[in-house]
Amino acid sequence: MVRLMGAALAALLAAGAAQAAGVTEADIANDATMTNQVVTNGMGRHLQRYSPLETLNKSNVKNLFPAWAFSLGGEKQRGQETQPLVHDGLMFITGSYSRLYAIDVATGKEVWQYDARLPEGILPCCDVVNRGAALYGDKIYFGTLDARIVALNAKTGDVVWRKEIADYKAGYSYTAAPMIVDGLVITGNSGGEFGIVGEVQARDAETGELVWTRPVIEGHMGTLNGQPSTMTGTLNATWPGDMWKTGGGATWLGGSYDADTDTIVFGAGNPAPWNSWLRNAGTPTEGNAGDNLYAASRIGIDPKTGEIKWHFQTTPREGWDYDGVNEVVAYADREGNKRFATADRNGFFYVLNREDGKFVRGFPFVKDISWASGLDENGRPIYVEENRPGDPTAAADGAKGETIFAAPSFLGGKNWMPMAFSQKTGNFYVPSNEWGMDIWNEPITYKKGAAYLGAGFTIKPLYEDHIGSLKAVDPDTGSIVWEYKNDAPLWGGVMTTAGGLVFFGTPEGEFLALDDETGEVLWSFQTGSGIVGQPVTWEQDGEQYVSVISGWGGAVPLWGGEVAKKVNYLNQGGTLWTFKLPKQLAKVE
Ligand code: CA
Repeated sequence: MVRLMGAALAALLAAGAAQAAGVTEADIANDATMTNQVVTNGMGRHLQRYSPLETLNKSNVKNLFPAWAFSLGGEKQRGQETQPLVHDGLMFITGSYSRLYAIDVATGKEVWQYDARLPEGILPCCDVVNRGAALYGDKIYFGTLDARIVALNAKTGDVVWRKEIADYKAGYSYTAAPMIVDGLVITGNSGGEFGIVGEVQARDAETGELVWTRPVIEGHMGTLNGQPSTMTGTLNATWPGDMWKTGGGATWLGGSYDADTDTIVFGAGNPAPWNSWLRNAGTPTEGNAGDNLYAASRIGIDPKTGEIKWHFQTTPREGWDYDGVNEVVAYADREGNKRFATADRNGFFYVLNREDGKFVRGFPFVKDISWASGLDENGRPIYVEENRPGDPTAAADGAKGETIFAAPSFLGGKNWMPMAFSQKTGNFYVPSNEWGMDIWNEPITYKKGAAYLGAGFTIKPLYEDHIGSLKAVDPDTGSIVWEYKNDAPLWGGVMTTAGGLVFFGTPEGEFLALDDETGEVLWSFQTGSGIVGQPVTWEQDGEQYVSVISGWGGAVPLWGGEVAKKVNYLNQGGTLWTFKLPKQLAKVE
């Protein structure tokens, strides 16, 4: 009895200490298994987006009901891509135009709201979105469209510090969720269509002071504690002339963290400009001299120093806007091997070794890939050279190279929207799109703050009845276990649960729960606007909750091409929906 009381007292004291400290590194490290909170982007820094909760399951999901809804208000109803965070009675979401909200998780009432004051002349390429915040200590962190990172007191919304990541006038912006690793706030940058240089930065979470920076284009110098550290790669090893200076590689989707190998993993976007002939006039068979490292690559980084540990380039000499930023998920395969998985914009799914980023296997996850016929034993694409957009300098007027049809389209077999891994099935659930494009190259010169493409394009569906395709992908065999087809392109995140459910939303506004083994629709709810957000789940007081934001937007309606007719009737919005399985219905069969 005495011992029990002692233990209870100790637990109480520990809870008090945790509350005073807010979100700890341990909370973050264990987020994937702590079912009463969601304190990281990705429901764990490995980004599996898998909940061990099974209170809500295949037999009772039909009883999932709305608990409350929250409107973002105002006239700024654009794409809502946030992932909610839940901690200590509060939910935090970001909204379009760099807004941040704290909400009472029990009632859905607003506690505070922060609207970033954005300057004139910001240059977001692909809608004014934000994909989420990060919690650490007593603060919450999020990035703004003018390429700044803001730290606020999580309880009050008061600004603690605010720092510039990069110069928005040069085309930099910020939309990803930051990540916390050992007291550092880790950020990337956006702006890959403006000839910027992708970079990863680490700041002291308490003060906002820079600890290290790591540009991801070869030739640029990193910094550590305010001093130059090392050059990224080797100057001009894979870039001609001065092209590396405006070489792109935006690190715009944020990163993941693998605790087992103590490695931060970031993707780097397309090399700039899109016109690949200006970066490599040759063919890839000439070797690696024109690969344009580390654009269109995944990069493993030491969190203490910012040094690059390894890289894996998915699309060398990239020329279709196949940004290599897609999230890298750390997982264990069915035999217990520690792997990374990533589904690239270029249409191929890659399994990598977690120790060194080396290629293990790869396979297509969308149909009709036209730019490459496959991958070689090192994971390098086997190019179909005639499906490279033609060189404008070879054209009679020098103004427009030969137009080719490429699949996937530049918006990718998969874009930013995160996939999920199920520890229950061992499969990945990949939100993909089946589409292609006409694309051609044009001459271009760099001008600060101006689009730096040297390309034109028209995006096109491949099939009459669907573009969107949620696929259950077996990472061990490369087989597609099942597919859920959707008319409009999918643009929101996926979540899996131990209850056997796969949650995701559609641009048509449906929020769906599918059977993880068959793809059968078990539950759906019409949210009133398109879903491009990311669902989460948690439990409180013995009940399981699920939240997702609804609010159509993002890149698709801005770049529609022939795809526009599948989306131009969709209504905008901005409502956070929270559902729960009431206790009395949890056991109903
Ligand atoms: Ca891009």
